[in-house]
Amino acid sequence: MAEIWLYNTLSRTKARLEPGDPGRVTMYVCGPTVYDRAHIGNARPAVVFDLLQRLLGHVYGEGHVVYARNITDIDDKIMARADAEGLGIEAVSRRYEDHYLADMAALGVRRPDLEPHATTSIGAMTAMIARLIASGHAYVSDGHVLFEVARDPDYGQLSRRPLDEMAAVARVEAADYKRAAADFVLWKPSTPGQPGWDSPWGRGRPGWHIECSAMIAEQLGETIDIHGGGLDLQFPHHENELAQSRCAHGGAALARIWMHNGFLSMGGGDKMSKSLGNVVSVGALLDEGWDGGVLRLALLSAQYRQPLEWSAQLLADSKARLARWARALDGVAAAATPPAGVVAALADDLNTPLALAELGKAVRTAPGEAVAGLALMGIALPAAGGGDDDGDIEAMVAARTAARAARDWAESDRLRDALAARGIVLEDGPQGTRWRRQ
Ligand code: AMP
Ligand code: ZN
Repeated sequence: MAEIWLYNTLSRTKARLEPGDPGRVTMYVCGPTVYDRAHIGNARPAVVFDLLQRLLGHVYGEGHVVYARNITDIDDKIMARADAEGLGIEAVSRRYEDHYLADMAALGVRRPDLEPHATTSIGAMTAMIARLIASGHAYVSDGHVLFEVARDPDYGQLSRRPLDEMAAVARVEAADYKRAAADFVLWKPSTPGQPGWDSPWGRGRPGWHIECSAMIAEQLGETIDIHGGGLDLQFPHHENELAQSRCAHGGAALARIWMHNGFLSMGGGDKMSKSLGNVVSVGALLDEGWDGGVLRLALLSAQYRQPLEWSAQLLADSKARLARWARALDGVAAAATPPAGVVAALADDLNTPLALAELGKAVRTAPGEAVAGLALMGIALPAAGGGDDDGDIEAMVAARTAARAARDWAESDRLRDALAARGIVLEDGPQGTRWRRQ
């Protein structure tokens, strides 16, 4: 069995993966908050951990890996969006969850084995909060429940930030109901107009961090093998997840290995983020006609911990590389095993630049193995021929019809514009929407 080595943020070293039970390797990745379309930076962790799931399946056997990724479907941003559109939070979160799954599927991201939703895991959260109160790690104050950081001497072990720096970040969140600025919310009260659930501490809703801790314990167990997410989640989100799980479980570690992907940037090194406005959505890239396999190849062109600058050049290079491989491998059947060099590179902390170089070599020397290697990496070759494919356009027209039915006018306008940019004219009539090329 190949050994898998992964960089562990907790120890700051590359460590050999030693699953608690090799017959049931467990991995959890923090999933999306569903209030808007995913940008290509959000797709990086989805693709990276999908690749790791495939590698784990290859090494330990499909069926011996359990991968969970949550959907955060209750959050202040979802509530704000629902208010702005005059809809319920369920309508908003369902819409963007559907988009997320469709966008990720286009990038070759498989559905995780488990997709727990925050709103259907409230019982697990209140149970964990009650344990933290009973063990003296949390307190009730003014309808809130807070984790008391001072009661956990190991707090800060993941991000290794100096205490004064953590306090400075937390001071922004200082509030009358907190004993210390660094204390974080486990449960907060809802006003009558806000979504909420009954609890021993009044009607309210969970804080974000407790969601993941409770869902991990409920779905996978107290200690999992791998916990992943983007670098920005290290502090405070993962620090808080780690602390509350460890304290609720008598000191048991939450995860053996903590992994964090680096940032995708655009426009000169700035992290792609909605607050900076330098975002390009996965949906927009697909609508422009970029092939999902090309986008996935571009996302895997850098090792996951390294920064990745998204650019027109990167897309053009990835497209040319994949087209070359598609021509060379046209009609080639997959061999039983992928190239050994590809597996070895991936098993070394997902060294994808090396794995892709090995794949390129195999395209010339062992094409059958190369096809198996592409399957292992989840990279689909574009269909030969190229040009606009009618199925693709019909899918966009159907998505626009669905958006109109959901009264999502912004999305239906965006799709109409994207189709227009490809020279497609739409005619809405009583029989539905027809399309033709200009
Ligand atoms: P969010 O919806 O902002 O919580 O992000 C979802 C996931 O995408 C998290 O794992 C983030 O760490 C990750 N992420 C957000 N922005 C970027 C970026 N520019 N590059 C890489 N990962 C990102
Ligand atoms: Zn999380």
